Amino acid sequence: MAIRRGGRRYCPHCQEVVETRVLPEGYKQIDYRGVLVKRRKIVCGTDRDGTGGCGHMWFTIEVPDVAVG
Ligand SMILES: [Zn+2]
Repeated sequence: MAIRRGGRRYCPHCQEVVETRVLPEGYKQIDYRGVLVKRRKIVCGTDRDGTGGCGHMWFTIEVPDVAVG
């Protein structure tokens, strides 16, 4: 699986919105307050190898709004 575009996201290391990539090995569905949500592993990078940014990696979790608050 290829590293695909992650779009512009906030990088916790750069502390600003940067171009990112999604690392396929990090994808997982996890339980968040009883709801299955998507977890993605993100790298701060601009090119197909996930380089070109600071290289910091973190996870994002996509949560439906009803599961928050
Ligand atoms: Zn960064």
